[in-house]
Amino acid sequence: MQQPQVLIIGAGISGMACAQALKSAGIPARVVDRGRRPGGRMTSRTINSRTVDLGASYFTAEPGTPFADVVSDWVARGLARPWTDTVAVAGADGINRVSTGPMRYAAPAGLQRLVADLGHDLDIHQGVTIEHVTAGEADTERYDTVVLAMPDPQARRLLTVGSALHTELNDDANWEPSIAVVLEWAARDWESFHTAFVNDVAEITTLADDGDRRGDDAPVLVAHTTAALARQHLDDPDGAITSVTAAVRRLLSLSDAPTRAFAHRWTFARPAAQHPQPYWLSDRIGVCGDAWGQRSSVATAWASGDALGRTIAAGGDADAR
Ligand SMILES: Cc1cc2nc3c(=O)[nH]c(=O)nc-3n(C[C@H](O)[C@H](O)[C@H](O)COP(=O)(O)OP(=O)(O)OC[C@H]3O[C@@H](n4cnc5c(N)ncnc54)[C@H](O)[C@@H]3O)c2cc1C
Repeated sequence: MQQPQVLIIGAGISGMACAQALKSAGIPARVVDRGRRPGGRMTSRTINSRTVDLGASYFTAEPGTPFADVVSDWVARGLARPWTDTVAVAGADGINRVSTGPMRYAAPAGLQRLVADLGHDLDIHQGVTIEHVTAGEADTERYDTVVLAMPDPQARRLLTVGSALHTELNDDANWEPSIAVVLEWAARDWESFHTAFVNDVAEITTLADDGDRRGDDAPVLVAHTTAALARQHLDDPDGAITSVTAAVRRLLSLSDAPTRAFAHRWTFARPAAQHPQPYWLSDRIGVCGDAWGQRSSVATAWASGDALGRTIAAGGDADAR
């Protein structure tokens, strides 16, 4: 590997998109991440010998965009598949209507597999935690540019307090937590649905049929809690399982209890507010991710990382922010 000119901290989809854009322009970049595997908030986990998505439920891709080309390639290679354009809408009394919208894509081997695919030919180092970033410098190593591809509150922790970027980024209070609760049942005992938006329920905001999403029909559901419930259980995510299970059973009229439950904490699941610009680049530090653009999503995170990588490759500077 060549000596990297750019260090990208974060092997989620925005960091991978940034690194790929740099690679395409012939700029050597290194990606580091403190986790054991790439994926970030698109992580999947093997539970009872099968893969379950714990972060993003699915993704969308606006036709005609560069991200749609990436998705078409994944679909052609069997890594992603069009899942559904129909979403159930539930209220306190259960699912009461369906709504159609853009195609939602899923990944038979889990969304994490897609992030790993983007990184297959990159210089990636997992299990590396960066502590401090200043202009073109990360923990005393010097680069032309250092990119923070992560939620604002995580990026802020690396920056000098009071610097322009530290002030620009949103703090913990402006990001919402969630807890993903995986519920496995003995049998599929619910009326068929793909994924549901849940309104006016204190415990959960979304519910996905993971067997339907994965295509293996396993009796597994994944619920994402409201920010309010997550805040009560950030120190003890398992503590959310009882109330989430009760809410899911109530919504789907399930008489049996699940046979297995698992909880995963997302301290920074989604931004409460977006930055209107597609990325930050100033003083040899770049920032990208799902908070940079119109709406927090996988597609926004990819587009932000891709745009930042292209700008760095084109010699972008302070005026790019
Ligand atoms: C519960 C949940 C449900 C969601 N549902 C959907 C959905 O249905 N559809 C959709 O489009 N989007 C959804 N999203 C949002 C989507 O997952 C994100 O927008 C996207 O994955 C963000 O990617 P990213 O690269 O910007 O950040 P991340 O994926 O968060 O990547 C940041 C990476 O930085 C690393 N990192 C942080 N600090 C350091 C450090 N100091 N040193 C080294 N590494 C560090 C982390 O380990 C992480 O891997 C959901 C997210 C959550 C949490």
